[in-house]
Amino acid sequence: MVGLGRFIVKLLPIAPKFIVKRIAGRYVAGSNLHSAISLMKKMDKENTCFTIDVLGEEIKTLDEARFFVEEYSRVLDEIISHDIDANISLKPTAFGLLLDKNIAIQNIEEILNKAALSDIFVRLDMEDHRVTQATIDIVLLMQERGFENIGTVLQGRLFRTGEDIKNITKSLGSFSDFRICKGIYLEPNEISHTGYQDIVNATNDCIDLMLESDSYTAIASHDYPIINHSLKKLENMKMYPDNDSRPNSIGPRKGKGLGYEFQFLLGVRGDLRRELASKGHLTRVYVPYGTKWYEYGVRRIRENPDIAWHVTKTLLMPWTNRR
Ligand code: FAD
Repeated sequence: MVGLGRFIVKLLPIAPKFIVKRIAGRYVAGSNLHSAISLMKKMDKENTCFTIDVLGEEIKTLDEARFFVEEYSRVLDEIISHDIDANISLKPTAFGLLLDKNIAIQNIEEILNKAALSDIFVRLDMEDHRVTQATIDIVLLMQERGFENIGTVLQGRLFRTGEDIKNITKSLGSFSDFRICKGIYLEPNEISHTGYQDIVNATNDCIDLMLESDSYTAIASHDYPIINHSLKKLENMKMYPDNDSRPNSIGPRKGKGLGYEFQFLLGVRGDLRRELASKGHLTRVYVPYGTKWYEYGVRRIRENPDIAWHVTKTLLMPWTNRR
């Protein structure tokens, strides 16, 4: 069915927007905050928690950055007023990182400060290699300013990531809080692995390093070789949903697992997520919403033509659609 999926991907640019909207609907909560809140409430029985992402990345003016500050501020208000088990994920370039670093830092600090008042965690998503160091620097700076509710994402495919883990954990010790993923950006081969197996191996090495260095480790992958490796490593380290045996780990924190969690994109491998949750592992769903749903949905479908086929099947046979 990959061939059919590729064919569907080719048709995307000429497909009516309402069709793409149906397709994107699997990966995006909707175009506004209200839709994200309703979706999370609907998923209440799934024994999972959430991270909310306002869609949009690199911006052209600092006014656009203000939009994101205000929108994330509303997100925090809604998490609190609806008592939802969620934290937030934000993209530093949407806060102005590539326009004015100092303003971006102020913007991020404003949101971090508001989140800290309610003990809500803030994850800086990792974008392409132009901002890897700047994103890490912001996390280190914010921790230096006393915020413990911040962490970033590292990408297994980048050659530099092993060193980044060592440097961050050297500065932050067990307050290091990572999301580890393969990395969505296709980076040049001078700085990153490009083959599937190399990326899986490198990502698994990063997971080991994070767990061994007492960091909180959020494993963000739908790929069995990564999930199975993580489960085995956790068992070897005697880390269980109700017991983190590492002597230097920081212990229970609001809305977090004991030392680790598994993260999934909305609409992807819900069956695997539910299986992990049924075994007691903390799972989290990444819930994007916003008016940029079209760009995000198309990107998700392009990433994986197989999905185009699954989603088409879902449209024709809606009963097969299980988030
Ligand atoms: P893959 O080999 O790509 O996928 C394994 C299987 O999962 C596929 O065969 C398919 O069945 C299913 N699958 C995977 N992706 C999709 C999809 N889009 N739609 C439907 N099915 C799919 N990357 C960054 O660079 N920066 C980030 O900040 C970042 N944050 C992330 C947060 C979360 C919670 C997750 C889960 C991923 C994030 N990523 C991020 C993306 C990540 O780097 C990968 O690009 C993405 O997860 C696909 O890799 P995979 O490990 O799931 O393996």
